[in-house]
Amino acid sequence: MKNSRFIKSIKNFSLSVLDWVFPPACLGCGQEGVFICSKCFLDVNLIPANVCNTCGNFTSKKGFCPHCARYPVSYAGFRAFACYDGVIRKAIQQLKYHNDPGIGRYLAEFLLTTYQRTSWDADLIVPIPIGETKREQRGYNQSERLAEPLAEKIGLKYQPEALMRIHERSSQVGLSLDERRANIRDAFRARSKYVQGKNVLLVDDVFTSGATMEAASAEIIQAGANKVWCLTVAKVNQY
Ligand SMILES: [Zn+2]
Ligand SMILES: [Zn+2]
Repeated sequence: MKNSRFIKSIKNFSLSVLDWVFPPACLGCGQEGVFICSKCFLDVNLIPANVCNTCGNFTSKKGFCPHCARYPVSYAGFRAFACYDGVIRKAIQQLKYHNDPGIGRYLAEFLLTTYQRTSWDADLIVPIPIGETKREQRGYNQSERLAEPLAEKIGLKYQPEALMRIHERSSQVGLSLDERRANIRDAFRARSKYVQGKNVLLVDDVFTSGATMEAASAEIIQAGANKVWCLTVAKVNQY
């Protein structure tokens, strides 16, 4: 017990050192000390509560949008915090390309808020894995930088080994949803020993067509999970 408290205080100390090494500045206006200042936060396009359970697009009634009603998915629900534009888009780029762990912890707060608004009951948190080549180029997986602090905040088990990426996908740009789904099918391998009978929360930075989430979710369900929910910081507006 004492030991874990010691490790935690070392970890917190290292994290505050990181804030000193990478001091935040507002991604909208440059104000020092914050990633998004309260003024720029007013321009964030938050996702309302009344959205399609599959894609997160606005729906006038509960359930699915007309598009998703035709495309059944394996996951039980998807929610994103905000639209992929403005300062949120800049924050995601900071997370992806600037190797700044502070932004991951910051964005995990938004994931926490979004999760707390659902009635989901996850047992463990799994980040969407990236391929080896990408990891070598970038040096880290941006989804892990969101999922690990989120797991700590909710008090859930963090299990990055539950899902592996076994194929790098070719570019999804310009493909239809059917083509995207075919392109990414079999990209993942889940480990039953971690997910069997469990409710899994999948975490990623951005939701575009949903093809990645669906492929990952289908594989986790196939490996014996009870339910999968998907959570991202941002969502690209489609259709
Ligand atoms: Zn600002
Ligand atoms: Zn939909």
